[in-house]
Amino acid sequence: MTEEKTIESNQLDHSLRYEISEKVGAKSLLKCIQCGVCSSGCTVSEYIDLQPHRVVASLLLGLKDIILESNAIWTCSLCHRCTERCPKGVDYSFILALLRNIASKEGKIPIEYSSTVETISENGFVVPYTGRMKNTINRRREKMGLPEVSSPDLDEINYILKETGLGNLMKKSKEDED
Ligand code: SF4
Ligand code: SF4
Repeated sequence: MTEEKTIESNQLDHSLRYEISEKVGAKSLLKCIQCGVCSSGCTVSEYIDLQPHRVVASLLLGLKDIILESNAIWTCSLCHRCTERCPKGVDYSFILALLRNIASKEGKIPIEYSSTVETISENGFVVPYTGRMKNTINRRREKMGLPEVSSPDLDEINYILKETGLGNLMKKSKEDED
């Protein structure tokens, strides 16, 4: 059974609603009629703790912390089915992408994501290309007549991470380790 939680009115924070509304159009969220069509067709609905129509309702109500701490933001596969099916034209998948950006800026990002950025920074690859893994990949490439993987320019990669702000996510990963 879902645990009920009481939220006092002075705990509500509408900043998220305004921030999202600025990007999707002030009236877009208000068009939602809570029909639940987005949730009924969501491809990851069984894995998320907050269904799409509830995220929209929570946005309107000012339940910022509940939304940013929900796994719905990160479990979404961005298949866009919710957006395609919404009878009121609410672009939920875009809203979710915006929520990811906002959560990241506030440091509310799963360790799996922040540590991936760290791996890219240190190795230049999403999966470390070192040790036995490197030998196996090289052997297979040789068999297929492919050239060796060229070494990535880590300075260039780290410059991009810094300039795009992605590098800030590594701090989060380090904080979680401490
Ligand atoms: S399908 Fe659209 S209108 Fe219906 S609950 Fe979802 S966002 Fe709201
Ligand atoms: S885009 Fe995300 S929220 Fe929308 S239906 Fe797909 S998985 Fe569900």
